[in-house]
Amino acid sequence: MERASRRAFLGAAGAAWSGAAMAALQPDEPDLVVFNANVYTVDRAQPRAEAFAVKGERFVAVGSNDDVRSLIGRRTQTYDARRMTITPGFIDTHNHPVGDVLLYEVLVGNPFEVEFVTIDSIVEKLAAKVRTLPPDTWVSGHFFDDTKVKDKRQLVMADLDRVSREHPVVVNHRGGHTAFYNSRAFALAGVTKATPNPPGGTYDRGPDGELTGRVTDTAMDVFDNVGRRPTFSPEETARRARDGLAHISREFARYGLTTVHHQGGDLAALQDVRARGDLKHRVSYEPIGPVLEAMIRAGLKTGFGDDWIRLGATFEHTVDGSFSERTLAWSKPFPGRTPPYYGNLVEDQPTLDAWVERVHRAGIDVNCHANGDRAIASALTAMERAQRLFPRPEARFKITHCTLVNPELVRRIRALDVTPACFTTYAYYNTDKFGFYGEDFMRNAMAFRSFLDAGVNVAAGSDFYPGPFAPLMGIQGMVTRTGWNGETWGANQRITPAEALRVNTYNGAYASREEALKGSITPGKLADYVVLADDLTAVAPEKIKDIQIVRTVTGGRTMYQA
Ligand SMILES: [Zn+2]
Repeated sequence: MERASRRAFLGAAGAAWSGAAMAALQPDEPDLVVFNANVYTVDRAQPRAEAFAVKGERFVAVGSNDDVRSLIGRRTQTYDARRMTITPGFIDTHNHPVGDVLLYEVLVGNPFEVEFVTIDSIVEKLAAKVRTLPPDTWVSGHFFDDTKVKDKRQLVMADLDRVSREHPVVVNHRGGHTAFYNSRAFALAGVTKATPNPPGGTYDRGPDGELTGRVTDTAMDVFDNVGRRPTFSPEETARRARDGLAHISREFARYGLTTVHHQGGDLAALQDVRARGDLKHRVSYEPIGPVLEAMIRAGLKTGFGDDWIRLGATFEHTVDGSFSERTLAWSKPFPGRTPPYYGNLVEDQPTLDAWVERVHRAGIDVNCHANGDRAIASALTAMERAQRLFPRPEARFKITHCTLVNPELVRRIRALDVTPACFTTYAYYNTDKFGFYGEDFMRNAMAFRSFLDAGVNVAAGSDFYPGPFAPLMGIQGMVTRTGWNGETWGANQRITPAEALRVNTYNGAYASREEALKGSITPGKLADYVVLADDLTAVAPEKIKDIQIVRTVTGGRTMYQA
């Protein structure tokens, strides 16, 4: 018998015997006891603890130092937390995990933190890339944020012409709805200052009528099929997908995330990364397109999978436009626009009703992207209708972003037990964009206080890559509603650190029907937790985001250590 197959044999057949033997010898002996800790369990039956024990992937005891230390056996490892704070692992219920972009592309902004860059630094990074590429091949920059530029002006075509005049150059805004192009790109696409704007998009022009280089929404489409793109073999594409996922999984662990709801992505690569031992967080996989269709055809419902990769609700089904880029469907006219503009509702009610009903009947939880009050009402109408026609008591509806609400919408959300997956880091990261909407709007936006007061299971949805995903930055924003620039918006929606902790843990588990499995430090649940250098309820609120993540543990395994 070869070594590998012998090991496989022992692994498969031996696990049950040795496990049973161990259990018989030491029924209660945990693998690990953590003691002398300041534990916030997020379990209402026992909110605080000093110690807990882990066996296999699960918590087996939670309590006082004396109680839990009495379980220490000969083989038990111990960890003295030295009064550090321990919370359940953080759960992000809305994330586009573009690890391949982080790993292989030119990043012209900071994906993770507020950082101001110069236009010169963007030009230099792209110019370095140009030197590796033949003419007419695209050069792309990612994670640009127009309000995080030291130069205090817009990026323009002339800047990108400094990168190259032989290569098409694009700088993508991290929000995903706008991009900036150089003159070679415009020439290849055949767009001039005389080209009319397409429906749902613009080629922006300056006061002189000349193209500025900025292009919005559907107008970006004409650049898709011109110029040459770097090409990869199928093997190389698969390798990049795997390495990208492994990379972003490390980043998630670094920031304390133990579960992330993925917006689509390469499902095969995800399984490969897990098989090779590089998946450091649990995934609720939210399907779109062929994967969703295959699920409906094959009868795969929300909940299928295991504790590491499980099919969740759907990918966000778009009902309206963007909050940060100001195209959400609002009941009031947008300030300063003539003729009056109410944002973009992208699907009519009968079309949305039909999509929601079809998914709901298939046993798959419905997840709609809705930012504006008109869009949220439309999503709720479709969800209420589906549940009326085909009642599914186990269904967990989800509205991604769910940004602008009013008391009537909150009441309907509560009645249907919908989870709003609200923006988290925006309250800190994007305050430079809230002036456009004004305080009246912001008092009803990202309405964590209103939701919690009404008994709604509001959860945290970072929407990385438009927003950073750091849970502690998100918690700081929920607690202070104050941004990096010192501006405070909608202070009436502040929640306490303890409430924000619950939003970022238990409520996320509930959103994917996994609240019996994770989301709190409770005996029997998966041992997913984070060790923090400071107590997030005791530090100054404006320091929460700077608390060091000392250790991230998923299923009893240390996935990150500072
Ligand atoms: Zn999204």
